Amino acid sequence: MVATEAIGSLDDPHVELGPLLGERQGDQPTGKPATDDGDVAGESLWHSHCDSRNVARCKRSGRSWNTPQTLAGAANLPDLRGWLRYTAGMLLAILAATLVMSLIVGVRYLIVSGAFAAATRVKHPGLYDGLTPQIRREIGWSLASAVIYGVPAGVVAWGWQNLGWTRIYTDLQSYPLWYAPVSVLLYLIAHDTWFYWTHRWMHTPRAFKLAHAVHHDSRPPTAWAAMAFHPIEAITGAVIIPLLVFLIPINIGCLGLVLAIMTVMGVTNHMGWEVFPRFMWNGPLGAWLITASHHQRHHDLYRGNYGLYFRFWDRLCGTDKGVGDFVKAHAQARVRRRRVGGGVAGAAGGGGNE
Ligand SMILES: [Zn+2]
Ligand SMILES: [Zn+2]
Repeated sequence: MVATEAIGSLDDPHVELGPLLGERQGDQPTGKPATDDGDVAGESLWHSHCDSRNVARCKRSGRSWNTPQTLAGAANLPDLRGWLRYTAGMLLAILAATLVMSLIVGVRYLIVSGAFAAATRVKHPGLYDGLTPQIRREIGWSLASAVIYGVPAGVVAWGWQNLGWTRIYTDLQSYPLWYAPVSVLLYLIAHDTWFYWTHRWMHTPRAFKLAHAVHHDSRPPTAWAAMAFHPIEAITGAVIIPLLVFLIPINIGCLGLVLAIMTVMGVTNHMGWEVFPRFMWNGPLGAWLITASHHQRHHDLYRGNYGLYFRFWDRLCGTDKGVGDFVKAHAQARVRRRRVGGGVAGAAGGGGNE
């Protein structure tokens, strides 16, 4: 106990060493009342025998400052305890942040995928009939991915709050207003670039077998397949936004918009029908944007159309396979419905989707 109260800089000649040297409590020169464990009530952990007013007197007293070994031993023990306590508290806080982030990502996935699956039930009754085992698998992989996504996001969120990490800013006025939409575009372009090249790499035979086959197990994909990734693929997806926030300044609201676009596009690209107006995927704009019609073709062909938001990289690298359609997927759904006996319900408009 005495040792723990002798914390102080070793460079400071006024570290309290009296108790360490076995001095009697009555020896305290300031005459301040000592507590039962030898500390001086209300006093700092050091200078307990000579506060700032009587440092000079203390120096004059000619106390010996002990040997270096005693000093090191006395000071290191409490330093270690304090360090352990601090580190444990910090790790717990980071763990809590990652859990919260995983929860947010998981709940966000369930809500958005659930909403678009419900929309599918209305717009295309029976489209997911007979896919119950696949959808269970998609949800399982997606929730596992949510846990992985929460780890870098939680660490960075903790660092942002506690250590001032990242270039996220909360005051929109910190940068010119025109920068807000530009920053969103920069994030989407950077994310798209990362996705294109990692996705293309995952279509090399070894990487596909090891990681990406999980995502292509969805035949055809559904709104629940948005995050159905093998952990290796989930890691490649999870690190990019937490890395970008260190590089590209972004307002917190704009970051939320980027995450919302990411989530909605991830879900709608897999849902088996086109939710966006035709001009977004079939006109001049559609020549550069990616929606379900484009990504469906990737799942049909297993190659080409590797992009996420934009067709830029696919067109530049000659991997663009054009916009697909859903004829095959919908025909397969009709066959499944007949097979599972859901044809009557589907024809009646009440197709029981999973
Ligand atoms: Zn793929
Ligand atoms: Zn996909």
